[in-house]
Amino acid sequence: MFSYGILPQLKSVIEDVETKAVGVSVGKSTGEKDQRNLPLVSVVSVVLSVMVLMSLLACQKKEDQPSDDVPVPVVANRFKYSDSVAAPHRAALNEAVSLLYFLPLKNDDSRLMEILKVRDLSPATLQSWLEERVRYIVDGEFEVQKAAYEVTENSFTYPNMDLLPDPNQGLALDFGALSQGVQNEKDSVVMSNLGAGVYYALKKHSKEESEKAKKPVAVLVGLHIGGEVGDVVISSPRTGLLQIGNGLFPSADAFGTTQNISLGVFRASTLFHEARHSDGHGKTLAFLHANCPEGHKYAGRGACDFSSNGPYTIGTKVHKQLMDQCSQCSAAGKDILRIIFLDFSSRVIKGQVRISGHKPESYSATPADWDDAPEGSRR
Ligand SMILES: [Zn+2]
Repeated sequence: MFSYGILPQLKSVIEDVETKAVGVSVGKSTGEKDQRNLPLVSVVSVVLSVMVLMSLLACQKKEDQPSDDVPVPVVANRFKYSDSVAAPHRAALNEAVSLLYFLPLKNDDSRLMEILKVRDLSPATLQSWLEERVRYIVDGEFEVQKAAYEVTENSFTYPNMDLLPDPNQGLALDFGALSQGVQNEKDSVVMSNLGAGVYYALKKHSKEESEKAKKPVAVLVGLHIGGEVGDVVISSPRTGLLQIGNGLFPSADAFGTTQNISLGVFRASTLFHEARHSDGHGKTLAFLHANCPEGHKYAGRGACDFSSNGPYTIGTKVHKQLMDQCSQCSAAGKDILRIIFLDFSSRVIKGQVRISGHKPESYSATPADWDDAPEGSRR
């Protein structure tokens, strides 16, 4: 139940989400506000460091490498795009899904099947899994604040209202306390699960408002996206609304073409990563990334998974299989894919680790499989 002047607050919440969720780009010099807000960037996004991106470009500039410009037969998918997503970017994402058929995964990864809860890794099974979790795609210019509207629905409540990912358990960032050491000018957002991010932020906001008002408050928002997408109500992390970023197209200039098969492998695995953010409930909501532990390359940054069945696990497993089977990928393309594989697989925390920057000041956490049942129901 809610019915009071929430729109001013809604505006600031949405503004905050937007800045946090997608507010970085390569080489961008950012101000103090962005520094403060950045930790959420990685929570529902794939972010590549500029070091990795530079490695990609260095590889791409090698001469005499066979082309990665391999035609991949297009298989239809159910993604819907906002009008402003450029045609080459749509084609690149459609190509990424089509790669599931062009480079079919081997049916021998029982752990991946266990995590995905599927009986096989056939192209159709994987596409179906993906389309359950990825439905709409908007471009990097999409502004949540401008598109948002409040949905008045007295019967709406957030499930598990008291349960949010717990910053004291290493399951999510303590957003306010972890701004130190964030080097946002060195990151580039590849793709974000914007729907999961907005859902999480509004649920958290609603919980706080309920505590203040001493009565249940549930702020539900929709987004005017237009085009073939229309309006989308953010009533579940399963909304499946993704936003693409510059990092998804890191070397189009170097190659002179947006579509190439090696980048297609990277994009396909990224889609699976983002799809996982559409899962989870309560403490596992959206499979949020956590602060990397002491000693990690990304220590103090929200780029690690403490879930052993989370986005980086799924993304890297899909990435590895597609990479290994890509006989059509050039040597330079494979170099890129190996760099990405090593970087992303290092973000899955194994064994017990120490984490600092939380309260209590330092404690240990051990990764485990998280409950993947999604929260709420999408419209
Ligand atoms: Zn992520």
